[in-house]
Amino acid sequence: MSKTEKVQLHVPALEELCVVLQSGLQTNFAEVQVSVVECPDLTKEPFQFPVKGLCGKPRITDVGGVPYLVPLAKKEKEYDMNVISKEVELPGGFLLGAGAVASRVVGMNAEMMPLVLTEVEGRPAVNGSYFSSINPSNGQCLQEKYSDKFSDCHFGLMANLYACEGKPGKVIEVRAKQRTGEQSFVTALRKTLEGHYPDKSIALGGTFVIQKGKAKIHIMPREFSVCPLNTDDDVNNWLKHFEVNAPLICQSVLVSKDPGLDLRVEHTHLFSHHGEGGHYYIDTTPDIVEYVGYFLPAEYVYRIDRPTETHGVGRD
Ligand code: ZN
Repeated sequence: MSKTEKVQLHVPALEELCVVLQSGLQTNFAEVQVSVVECPDLTKEPFQFPVKGLCGKPRITDVGGVPYLVPLAKKEKEYDMNVISKEVELPGGFLLGAGAVASRVVGMNAEMMPLVLTEVEGRPAVNGSYFSSINPSNGQCLQEKYSDKFSDCHFGLMANLYACEGKPGKVIEVRAKQRTGEQSFVTALRKTLEGHYPDKSIALGGTFVIQKGKAKIHIMPREFSVCPLNTDDDVNNWLKHFEVNAPLICQSVLVSKDPGLDLRVEHTHLFSHHGEGGHYYIDTTPDIVEYVGYFLPAEYVYRIDRPTETHGVGRD
């Protein structure tokens, strides 16, 4: 693994972020309400995370990358959440976000929805992650709880993660209803920050719930492509796309501006309690969609095992 790179990010005051996001999101949603709130207890429904909150030393990391999946998969690219938590200088921390499973462990390729309280001496890791694959019997989405099948904390190829101590505290609550613009909820947050702070890198991480409506997702096939996937069209033809139903619990990492680390600037995976999960693009029901999310700005971004040969294919 190449040396981890670390960059400090701009962290505006939460109250300032509220004003900026409120005005930006109003160009994409009919109803918007952004405020500073006490983080809801994330051990409760619908989240059921292994920690109570999103607070305490917030940071993000971009591990590996799409260049390890396409044009051809580098299956040997595998990571351990317990090691990653130390790389981001938060041993025993909580990690959430979007990634891929370790195919060696799971026996196939699949989407990963990481929710991991990493280990410390005297306390084992608590892996609350989900993973989603294509059901070979019907070609539909098959979402499973990771710990029902596996007892490790590995993942493969890539992940975009938000890390924190998992403590309660103040967070930004974003409520948005009825999408009037073309941007997804996450893209609208990111573009708002990019527009208001053009010279700064600001990252948000957290979780949001699609309370009403449906969303477009993809799930990677169980088998890696044997033909090189050279273009976005190649990748999209290889991926399987689905429309899934609320309520959907989404884990998201976004960066307003890449500080030169070859980052994926947004990545969101979602799970549900009704068996649907995968990689989020956008809601497909703008008229009735309702979002509520909880986010914090990250203090640092850590670039772990950055691909030396890179490209821009497949980053949607
Ligand atoms: Zn993804």
